[in-house]
Amino acid sequence: MPYELKIETAFAAAHNLLNYCGECENLHGHNWKIEIYIQGSELDKSGMLIDFKVLKEHTDTILDTLDHTYLNKLPIFEGLSPSSELIAKYIFVELEKKLDKLPVTVHKIVAWESEKAAASYYR
Ligand SMILES: [Zn+2]
Repeated sequence: MPYELKIETAFAAAHNLLNYCGECENLHGHNWKIEIYIQGSELDKSGMLIDFKVLKEHTDTILDTLDHTYLNKLPIFEGLSPSSELIAKYIFVELEKKLDKLPVTVHKIVAWESEKAAASYYR
């Protein structure tokens, strides 16, 4: 697909990792930086793949469910370890549902849990 859009956003939350031996098994927080990559081949009449504003609105709706929460307590992570990998996957799947009717594809979600460490999810 020849066109790609990227937006960056962020949320803050607490978590602790399950089945993990080390500092991250204890409750702590991150300011996750999220990168959203959308691809497609068809542009609309304005010459855009998707309006950045629309993409931002859909992304914000998803991140609102995570922002300032204790991720382990959310039903979506019940029984799971809310790692950056699974956060990226959750955002990917939810955004895919929201963009279902549009001629675009969610390409990749990157979740940065620190300045130097990120996890990506893509198909
Ligand atoms: Zn952590």
